[in-house]
Amino acid sequence: MTTAFFYDEQSFWHSGGNYSFMAPVGGFVQPAATGGLPENPETKRRLVNLMNVTRLMDDLKVERAAPASQVDLIRVHTGDFLTTFRKTSDAGGGETGLRAPYGPGGYELAALSAGQAKGALFSVLDGQYKNAYALTRPPGHHCLRDWQNGFCLLANIAIAVEAALADGKAGRVAILDWDVHHGNGTEAIFYDRAEVLTVSVHQEHNYPLDKGDFKDRGEGQGDGTNLNIPLPPGAGHNTWLQALDRVALPAIRNFKPDVLIIACGFDAAAFDPLGRMLCSVDTFRQMTRRVVDLAGDICQGRLVMAHEGGYSETYVPFCGHATLQEMSGSTIDAPDPFAATLKIRQPGPAFEAFASGLIDEMAAALP
Ligand code: ZN
Repeated sequence: MTTAFFYDEQSFWHSGGNYSFMAPVGGFVQPAATGGLPENPETKRRLVNLMNVTRLMDDLKVERAAPASQVDLIRVHTGDFLTTFRKTSDAGGGETGLRAPYGPGGYELAALSAGQAKGALFSVLDGQYKNAYALTRPPGHHCLRDWQNGFCLLANIAIAVEAALADGKAGRVAILDWDVHHGNGTEAIFYDRAEVLTVSVHQEHNYPLDKGDFKDRGEGQGDGTNLNIPLPPGAGHNTWLQALDRVALPAIRNFKPDVLIIACGFDAAAFDPLGRMLCSVDTFRQMTRRVVDLAGDICQGRLVMAHEGGYSETYVPFCGHATLQEMSGSTIDAPDPFAATLKIRQPGPAFEAFASGLIDEMAAALP
């Protein structure tokens, strides 16, 4: 059984038109060189390229799925939202939400991205592959049913999950979001749903500024099936692993899902311009090892990752390479050029004790 890697070259063509964004990756006043879009295609293209250079790609099964269909999209998004998005895209692009611009073809490229998430999930649920990674671009975890934000144009993972539930391929799904930003879209879509557990580990009050609190546990039938683990800026390798070991993974284990999906952002890495965390390649390697093991224990190894953020075009490829290496069990490594530096830059014992105390409080508050 192999690991599948779903991607489409066209996803790198998604652009933001003549767009300027007031953030460190946006260009400030003058549009960024990367097609005006702060969400830089080079981070993901370079991951593909690095895996080709090391030949890790030869140990994966490369796949390309069809775009998500209208039926798939309408399970998650409102008809008015989809109509406005399509019209604006056909007219040359624009921005119909907040911080989520797109150019001509934006609609089709977003449907193609959601299709990769669906293809990856279905391939694992059908038993075709041991696990699968979808290089989804544009990303999806911020997108609400009727509102685009944070570079996310369609809710990729939610679209894939609803398709799998509708087809009876899965009954219970757990989603762990380790992007440094809160998975507000995924949370909102499944907030009242008992059969989908959403867990987000993120930097507190980064993006969105007012979402992602620990107290937000879901509502109605979904009461208890949403879990936020906000971490203070400056947290590094040990704190992120503790957040998984002591809060996120026990909750997922208790939930007993049929499949585990990771909203895989690499913006908790130390060099990311849109996060203030200190994770390294090894953090992503260790987190991946843990979710591979957990999936093996509780859902016959069924694990799917969909790419979210990550804005350092030099460092994301190494984080992604380690993730795919761990998922596939390949022996092909791409050593982290910054490993020694980031080991020294980790927070000191006082911070670690403080962060550990916060995690203790969250762990103690869970049933
Ligand atoms: Zn992010």
